[in-house]
Amino acid sequence: MTSAWAGAAPVTVRVPAKVNLELLVGSPRADGFHPLATVYQAVSLYDDVTVEESDRWSVTVDGPYAGGVPTDGSNLALRAARRLAATAGVLDPVAVTIHKDIPVAGGMAGGSADAAAALVACDQFWQLGLEKSALEMEAAELGSDVPFLVRGGTAIGSGRGELLAPALARGTFHWVFAISDEGLSTPAVYAECDRLRGSASVAPPEPKPETMAALRSGDVRALAAVLENDLQEAAFSLRPALRAVLAEGLGLGALGGVVSGSGPTVAFLVEDNEAGIDLAIGLTASGAAANVRRATGPVHGAHVLVGARD
Ligand code: ATP
Repeated sequence: MTSAWAGAAPVTVRVPAKVNLELLVGSPRADGFHPLATVYQAVSLYDDVTVEESDRWSVTVDGPYAGGVPTDGSNLALRAARRLAATAGVLDPVAVTIHKDIPVAGGMAGGSADAAAALVACDQFWQLGLEKSALEMEAAELGSDVPFLVRGGTAIGSGRGELLAPALARGTFHWVFAISDEGLSTPAVYAECDRLRGSASVAPPEPKPETMAALRSGDVRALAAVLENDLQEAAFSLRPALRAVLAEGLGLGALGGVVSGSGPTVAFLVEDNEAGIDLAIGLTASGAAANVRRATGPVHGAHVLVGARD
């Protein structure tokens, strides 16, 4: 049977990675999820996700971080496409291609980013015309970080991270990321956080007013001073070498540094582009990290690059 979409132009969506400026974690809820108060920022490391007409569901991955990404039904981009098809009553499969430039299992939500991109791409390809809010609701069913990667910018996340409120942020921040060549499992890092806390119960957290004030002012030094991640000690416990990476970056002149999400990527804030280049050179020369990348934030969430229709 010929697909209703035969001959339709492929759609490519670009999606950013995220860093958590603040990640406050409460004790697990009855459903096993940890209540969070987080401040996400979308940063300019991108995956590109293309969907096109096909006679079967498939996913192909290329690019610098293709290794370690599943190409079966567990791939989050493919799951997102299939889920949206089921919701929207689309019967025809698509082929998904991911160009992967976001580190895998690096605490930068690369898999969630691909899911967000697949939703936006399929919405466009199937001409569903869904509102962003509808896409974000669909996204929340796929994973806690997925709605933010649809939205982008800077936002406060609550619940398990899926409930978003805008955060007023002024200016552009310059980041340097020290990326490990071996990822950390997000569930393992949360479990380690619980283990380190023992029987102490931690109330559902609230975002810190200082972080909001620093973002509103656009003052990079103020923001650098309030970076905080409750998962950092757990990431250090599982990967002790990360302490030295953080110390190295701060010693080389970063204004602030923090483990990104569940790690092992360490994110450093710097004054400007020049300072970012200097820090990236210093971190590379010291051998502190397998790979060093620079980026800016905030940037837009998942957006159509090629294949836009009017
Ligand atoms: P988070 O910051 O949301 O905790 P992360 O950045 O640490 O996530 P991901 O890169 O999202 O981690 O990958 C976590 C795991 O998800 C991978 O080890 C991989 O097995 C699986 N996965 C499924 N689909 C994808 C995808 N499209 N890209 C990357 N990983 C995927």
